[in-house]
Amino acid sequence: MVTANAEIGVIGGSGFYSFLDDVTETVVDTPYGPPSDSVFLGELSGRRVAFLPRHGRGHHLPPHRINYRANLWALRSLGVRQVLGPCAVGGLQPEYGPGTLLVPDQLVDRTKARQQTYFDGEPLPGGAVPNVVHTSFADPYCPEGRRVALKSARGRGWEPVDGGTLVVVEGPRFSTRAESKWHAAMGGAVVGMTGHPEAVLARELGLCYTSLTLVTDLDAGAETGEGVSHAEVLRVFGENVGRLREVLFDAVGALPASEGRDCLCTHAHDGWDLGIELP
Ligand SMILES: [Zn+2]
Repeated sequence: MVTANAEIGVIGGSGFYSFLDDVTETVVDTPYGPPSDSVFLGELSGRRVAFLPRHGRGHHLPPHRINYRANLWALRSLGVRQVLGPCAVGGLQPEYGPGTLLVPDQLVDRTKARQQTYFDGEPLPGGAVPNVVHTSFADPYCPEGRRVALKSARGRGWEPVDGGTLVVVEGPRFSTRAESKWHAAMGGAVVGMTGHPEAVLARELGLCYTSLTLVTDLDAGAETGEGVSHAEVLRVFGENVGRLREVLFDAVGALPASEGRDCLCTHAHDGWDLGIELP
């Protein structure tokens, strides 16, 4: 039995928690197996925060091998009710060049082989069987969390792009030029590999989820040169991780109280009998 001792979750790299004082490392298990790594609990801006390295320490898990169900379940079992999910993306439109911070309001799922629901009819270890549930997902991100993220960016002098569609691909390879042009033509703003199923699993657990995307490259279609290189992605991420951390930490402090939230995230299952108890 895990004690509830965090309220806000941040799924991101070790750059977001490694320098905090008084961080407690907690190993959490879930009915879906272990999450990407230990969860690191600490206090930030007066809030109890749980940090989870999405790719594990040392970045050993590729996007398609991340146990997204375990990650979100683990956070909720610790008491988390609001999640911030920063991630690196490619820009699909020329105006969204490296260093752009975009807070998406939509996503398109182009992943192929990921577990993306808790309601799959498989019994949990305790014997409870989830019912067939169709979760409302028209608006995949928390409107309150988005508002806070945008305000926090502006407060740090980093004018964000307010809205846009995050296309999530299976990876781990980057897109071909044809795929990239297609994603742009269908209205995609940015493309990444981890934003889904993170968002939908959060919604299934009644968690508020906000994605903050940092553009590290122009994707293959918008790029006139050699296409995306990993070295370039790392370089741009390194240049921006400091201010992304500042924005995240400001956002943590500015998120609404978790108790009494009334945003759409909390109503996704109104009228449904889930068949299982959420942790
Ligand atoms: Zn919400």
